[in-house]
Amino acid sequence: MAELRSRQIKDQSVRREFRKSLDANKITETEVKRIIRSVNDNQTITRTELQDLQRILDESTKLTPRARLLLADFVREADRLKGNKAHLKLLPVVHGKKFDSQLTRPTGYSRIWSLTIEARVVLKAVDDPDICTDRGADRSCVEWPDGEFSKFKLALKRQSRFWSERFFLKPPDGLNSLQVDSRADPYVLCKFDLQLVPSVARRHRTIRAVYLDPEDSSQMRSHARLYDNKDVRVRTTRRGGKTYKRVTAWHELGHLLGLKHIGVINGYAECGPGDDTGARVCYGKNHRDRQDTMGIGTALRKAHATPWTNAIAQHTFTDAADWKVLVNSHAAEKFKLD
Ligand SMILES: [Zn+2]
Repeated sequence: MAELRSRQIKDQSVRREFRKSLDANKITETEVKRIIRSVNDNQTITRTELQDLQRILDESTKLTPRARLLLADFVREADRLKGNKAHLKLLPVVHGKKFDSQLTRPTGYSRIWSLTIEARVVLKAVDDPDICTDRGADRSCVEWPDGEFSKFKLALKRQSRFWSERFFLKPPDGLNSLQVDSRADPYVLCKFDLQLVPSVARRHRTIRAVYLDPEDSSQMRSHARLYDNKDVRVRTTRRGGKTYKRVTAWHELGHLLGLKHIGVINGYAECGPGDDTGARVCYGKNHRDRQDTMGIGTALRKAHATPWTNAIAQHTFTDAADWKVLVNSHAAEKFKLD
């Protein structure tokens, strides 16, 4: 009986949200998120509620463009699932600007959800020696020797695990849609799945890869769209009297996920937000920052969870800033280089 009562109260508050929105002159993205959250937090969505949402959509003049997109997606998904709320809480795949992401419900007694960012990359072996002089660099590359490219692909796939299971996310207060039981708070484990795909049809990104001339000991500087065969190995840099070790692929895959250099993340005046040209200072001007993966080291910090907080915000119609990030310190042990 008590449960029924609370359900009725919840239903009423959802209805109140709808009525308020229908009366408002303009419906913004924030407003739409609030409506969707109240539907998600509630236990059901009724036919009437769906019709109400559809009606909001039809009142085109009231919705801002972003609000319209968000609501249209939700209504389409809700309609497809015919109001089955167990599924409605999770849109299975978010087609974000860059990659897909998938939110998976815990199984058994677990309360840990998985949020997997899927990056489908076409990795192209390039034999053109001119490409190695890219960005004014004076390096030489040769043709990929037999079998080396497949080895490189396997190694890159293995190194991409660096970015998987490194963070947990704690939902914002009051978000009930991820609750699996009433006793314990749910968490979200952030995963990364680099898929090296053969065809360009479903790819998110194309990256070229070259094989460096073994006679040339100088290092090529890889960048987001051009890798070399040495990127999957440990590389050592001396700077400021200290030695830093890293695997270049970890850093480059960080860029693939949309992360900038540590100097940009930490707001150095020398590295403006849009100016990530790779100037030396942006890799860190003190020891702590150089130790960062987005510097010349291997450390991860909470700011590097942004790709996942942005994705979970889309899945749950919340704001990315409201999610608390916990670094999975246990996982760091696996990637210690010294
Ligand atoms: Zn970089």
